[in-house]
Amino acid sequence: MSLRVIHTIDELRAALAPARRAGTMIGLVPTMGALHAGHARLIETARRECGVVVVSIFVNPIQFDEKDDYARYPRTLDTDARLCESLGADLVFAPEAGEMYPEPPCTVVEVRRVSAHLCGRFRPGHFQGVATVVLKLFHIVQPDSAYFGEKDAQQLAVIRRMVRDLNLPLTVVGVPTVREPDGLALSSRNQRLSAQERQVALSLSRALRLAQRRIREGATAAEAVKGEALAMLAEQPDLRVEYLEIVDPDEMQPVDEVRGPVRIAAAIRVGSTRLIDNVEATAQSQ
Ligand code: AMP
Repeated sequence: MSLRVIHTIDELRAALAPARRAGTMIGLVPTMGALHAGHARLIETARRECGVVVVSIFVNPIQFDEKDDYARYPRTLDTDARLCESLGADLVFAPEAGEMYPEPPCTVVEVRRVSAHLCGRFRPGHFQGVATVVLKLFHIVQPDSAYFGEKDAQQLAVIRRMVRDLNLPLTVVGVPTVREPDGLALSSRNQRLSAQERQVALSLSRALRLAQRRIREGATAAEAVKGEALAMLAEQPDLRVEYLEIVDPDEMQPVDEVRGPVRIAAAIRVGSTRLIDNVEATAQSQ
């Protein structure tokens, strides 16, 4: 099947009906577009595992806590569709905001606890907007599997928890973060960085890797490990740290002592661009 770009929910449901009747596995890759090699990894994974691959491209207004960020978010549907086609996706679902939200929603999804820290503390309403749109997409597409990047580890944890709590009949697949050769995690927001800002932004992945190394070497006191990573970030005057935390990988709660697997997650601002990244680390068994 060659790629079809669809803008309405009715058309998408009609396009998926034959596959659903035939019992073909349907995979969904939710994105906000401005696709890059990180998104491509998700689509490739879905392509290997599913008979039909749907990529949704929707800049979801209700997950933006800053109007300006929503307005400036890159929108590149034609290029995105070409990439989806080259990766063998079957359908792109690219609704207008009015198609997804004909009226302001009265029903929203709040995934408590998992959304409390990290980005949840700094972006009020963000994860409620994410969980709400993802649940809508799950109901619209009814996929067997849905693919999310570990780049947004808290988002992945929120979705996994929503699926568990609400008994949604699908599998959530987490895909490892795709990085530039120098370590910078790919992000649609990287487009906004000047060459100099990009250089500054590199210290984010470097600081996270330093913390990861310390934990792998046997450090267990979260404060000390964070302190070293923060000191590395402080060497860059053109960067502002929003948070750097060591959390448990399921509920994203900050830990004092590193025992077992953790995620080290951080958000920084470089100029007017906000960037997030995270790495996993597992404490050495004693
Ligand atoms: P976005 O378009 O930023 O909402 O991202 C759509 C999906 O792509 C999310 O599940 C992200 O976690 C994932 N993603 C974004 N950047 C990367 C990356 N560098 N590596 C892997 N997955 C990514």
